[in-house]
Order: sequence, then C-alpha cells, then structure tokens
Amino acid sequence: MAVIKSRALVLEKPGKDPLVREIDVLDPGPGEVRVRMAASGVCGTDGHAVEGTHPLRGLPVVLGHEGAGVVESVGAGVTALREGDHVVCALAVPCGVCRQCARGLAAHCNSPKRAQAIAGLAADGTTRMRRDGEPAHPFFGVGTLSQYTTVRQEQAVRIDSDLPLDEFCLTGCGVITGVGAALNIGQVQPGDTVVVIGCGGVGANVIQASRIAGASRIVAVDTLPEKLDLARRFGATDTVDARGDVPAAIRAIEPDGADIVFEVVGNPSLTASALTLARVGGKCVMVGIPPVGATLSLDAFALVGNRQLLGCRGGAVVPARDLERIVRFYRAGHLRLGELVGRRLALEDVGKAFAELGSSSFARSVVVF
Ligand SMILES: [Zn+2]
Ligand SMILES: [Zn+2]
Repeated sequence: MAVIKSRALVLEKPGKDPLVREIDVLDPGPGEVRVRMAASGVCGTDGHAVEGTHPLRGLPVVLGHEGAGVVESVGAGVTALREGDHVVCALAVPCGVCRQCARGLAAHCNSPKRAQAIAGLAADGTTRMRRDGEPAHPFFGVGTLSQYTTVRQEQAVRIDSDLPLDEFCLTGCGVITGVGAALNIGQVQPGDTVVVIGCGGVGANVIQASRIAGASRIVAVDTLPEKLDLARRFGATDTVDARGDVPAAIRAIEPDGADIVFEVVGNPSLTASALTLARVGGKCVMVGIPPVGATLSLDAFALVGNRQLLGCRGGAVVPARDLERIVRFYRAGHLRLGELVGRRLALEDVGKAFAELGSSSFARSVVVF
C-alpha cells in the first residue's frame, strides 16, 4: 500500500466555486478501506455546502456523499470486506449499540465515533486526505467526488458485483432517503393516497417506494413540468402544478385529504400547508431539510384533527438493512435506478451539475470516473 494521488472536487471555502484538485489519499488505517470510486452522484446537499447553508466541520472539504466503487485495499482488522469487493459508500455510520441505535433510530446515532466520521475524521482524529500536505475533510466522512477515498469499513456496504455502479452510487443518499421516508417514516400502506411535494432525486424515490408499498393514488406536486413527467415515469398517478391552487387540486382527487403528504423541498411554509393537505388522522412527513434556524408556523387546528407531523432525518435509514431491500426491489424490477440518472459526466465537467442543481429536468447528475 502507498499514498495514492487522486483528482477530487475540493471546496476551499463556502461561497467559492469548488475546484478539481489533486489530493493525496492515505492508506487505510485499522478498520478502514480505500475505495476506487466508479461513480458519484451530485446531491443538493453538496450544493448547500458550496452555498454555505450546510454546516461544515472543517475545511477544505472533498465534496460528494453518494458513491459506489471497488475496494482497492483494506486496513488491519477489516473483516467484512476484501480487495475487489463492490461497495456503496453510505453516509450514516450507526454504531449499533448507543441508546438511539437501540431505539431503532440509527439515523440519530449519537456515538462520538459517528460524529467523528461525519466530520471526516478517522478514529485517530486525523483525516485520510491531504490537499497540498494539509488535512482535507471528506464530506460526511465519505468524499465521493474523488477518484479514491478512504472510509471506515462500516461506511462501505458491499453489493453484488453484477450491479451497475453508475446507478447504485445513487443509493448512498437520494434513493435510500426517499425509500426510507416512504417505508420507514411514512409507512405507506396498500391503498393509501400519497402526495409528494417536490419531485427531484429524493421525491422520485418517495414516489417509487410508495408505488412498491401499494399506494393506490400517488399525487406528484412540482413547479417544473419536466419533473412532473419524471414523477409519472416513477409511478405518480396524478400530477399537480405547484404554481396553481394545490389544496383545491388535492381535494378534487381525494375530498377527505391524503393519507400521507411528503414535503420533499425543506421549506417550512410549504411544510405547514402540506400538513393541511392530509386527512383527519393522516400524516405529513417533512423529508426536505429546512435551513438551520428556520421556524415553522402551523395551523394549530390541523393537529387537533389528529394529524401527525413527522420529521425524517435521512429516511431513518439503516444502510445495511435498507440497501439490501433496495437491491431486492431493483432485481425484481420494482425500483428503477437507471432512469434517475439524467446525465453522466466527467469530474472535470462537474460544475455543470452544480449550476443546474434543483432546476434540471432530471433527477440526478452522476460523475463517472
Ligand atoms: Zn445527499
Ligand atoms: Zn449508535
């Protein structure tokens, strides 16, 4: 093993454009693996890091947090993985033993080890990436917009080698979050009417997981006609232009209101109105992440109607469990990943993907290494 030179997308400072730079990726330490990335998605949260609306725990940052690749080398004591294994790099590293994990809240695992991993630090408190000799921090502890990355073995979930890495890279964040929101948090039931507000990469997966769970009506709401077309391809039965009278459109479809409304934008005023689209006793799931410090003003009587407003950190995902389920859905032809990839591009062209985040007509841009 030796230090590997890697081209990577490096953010020096929020507010400045990230640049493709050469970095050093150090050898995997005990319990770590080095992964040669095959593909990485570009997610809205990467864009938030660039804009400065996502808190960062150390600069510079190597961006990217949903990727798939091949294990290049393994550190001492690695038991779960071998060189050559195909893996998805997952951002949550639940410890499995803390109080939150024991309660089934793996996405809220509060072990110091996980906090350290998310800050991009290895167990010894240092990072495995260097830019000009200085420590660089892999975003969410994975930094997938890099030809190589070194992660804890728990952050690399093995998948079968016949699965396409340029599609499965998306399961690291957008897919697993959307599927988790529908199945783990919303718990869509057969026959349910579901409303999905915001039909990008995550929303499309809320839609397809709701379809898999047996929802009878899936109403997609978005401002962009192209995203509504996309929503139909993933299983939406009805579409509503968000610029029109959304409550009237939902009432026309389901007079009592929806069983579950998913707000996938992360806009508090939208969340408040989404709650009122749910039927008495129904649920509203806030899937989108609001800006830090945002407050929510609600029609209090919406809650008197026994409606539930549910938070949803990362779809309450347990990577090993939920990825296995995603693989099974994919193999059965129920979950479509290829259609989520709107464009494949080289790392050098990644600026285009950032410029179009949120406004493009397709779900995701994927960088292929
Ligand atoms: Zn993401
Ligand atoms: Zn834990």
